[in-house]
Amino acid sequence: MSKSSPAKTVVLFLSLIALVVILSMISGRLWGGKPETLPEHSELTIEKGMTLKDFGSANGLPNSALKVIFGLQSKSDLQKKLFEYGTANQIKSLVIKKLALAAEHESKNWVKILIKFCLWFAFLITLFLSLRKRKISPTLRKTALFISVLIFGVIMGADPSPMGTVKDAIHLYGSTGAIFPPRMIALMVFLVIVFVANKYICAWGCQFGVLQDLIFRLNQTAKTKTIMGRQVKIPFILSNSIRLIFLGVFTIGAFVWSFDIIGPFDPFKIYKPAFLGMTGVIFVGILLIMSLFIYRPWCHFFCPFGLVGWLVEKVSLIRISVDYETCIACQKCATACPSTVMGAILRQDKKTIPDCFACYACREICPTESIRFSTRKRTILPPGHFDEKKQSKTDIQI
Ligand code: SF4
Ligand code: SF4
Repeated sequence: MSKSSPAKTVVLFLSLIALVVILSMISGRLWGGKPETLPEHSELTIEKGMTLKDFGSANGLPNSALKVIFGLQSKSDLQKKLFEYGTANQIKSLVIKKLALAAEHESKNWVKILIKFCLWFAFLITLFLSLRKRKISPTLRKTALFISVLIFGVIMGADPSPMGTVKDAIHLYGSTGAIFPPRMIALMVFLVIVFVANKYICAWGCQFGVLQDLIFRLNQTAKTKTIMGRQVKIPFILSNSIRLIFLGVFTIGAFVWSFDIIGPFDPFKIYKPAFLGMTGVIFVGILLIMSLFIYRPWCHFFCPFGLVGWLVEKVSLIRISVDYETCIACQKCATACPSTVMGAILRQDKKTIPDCFACYACREICPTESIRFSTRKRTILPPGHFDEKKQSKTDIQI
């Protein structure tokens, strides 16, 4: 098998998926784990004249649950009339909300979540500082992505994830009217990372994002030429429109039918394979095969955090910028960029700038070191920059 043959890429691809699935199964068993889904709320029995105790007995709610729902102070409160707490609809909504929040709380492994966030910070800061001055090689990138897959996916599991915070927040609020404060804090933390350093969390920390990225890079040689056919850059207008529609449909599903449309094929479940049904296996399989040819298909076409993060990215403090003083307009950066974003940044397209995943591919290839991932402001493209540079290159050749 030659050093970078298609057969080798296929073997690496399949080995990676097998490794992720097998190790995730083992890791899931070691952590134990509680189901991380909300309980189905069956119809509640509510009758006139009921006391709280009657209500509890009729609906299988123990006194401890009644205490949480109605804020009871003593046992004698159980004799209070149910309708003192509102109308039938208000009581139903109160019960559903409180039970959903209790189930959310109960389903979390708080120690594991805390460790994961500490690891995220340590990993991202180390990577950012070590790549501040030096260029990243393809091998180093693959190694960093692989480590991230192992730590944040295989070992620390599918939850939490940037995507999950947006998805679950919408689903919980849409289906029960409840807001789970720890999730909102996690979402804020992820968005603050985007605000500070572009999509650094997506680039190097999101467990499914890094898996897709690694697969995409498996299909490239060191010189970024593809091995198995063409790698395609999808027009942003198309991918972002689909992502927007998908989020709309998901939100309608949550508010109107209390249904989590993403649930059955949530790709993050590759890190808890026992919960990935047949629909999930097929969908994730297609996504992973697509990742060989399209950069991060889930992120670009479907991810709710991808969309929200893209909006916040517009005001990121640290981001990719070009120094037109030294730029020779060779456009190698735009070619090396796995999506259409570098072309848009370089030419300062009036159209919307797509997602930048802070992957450093553009910086790595630039022969004049004109690209920086820093707080440097994006300067205005000098008029005729590309024409002039082309002209001066022609003059030199003559
Ligand atoms: S956009 Fe991609 S990397 Fe970012 S949260 Fe979504 S799946 Fe993860
Ligand atoms: S190549 Fe540059 S512009 Fe393109 S995604 Fe990576 S960091 Fe962003």
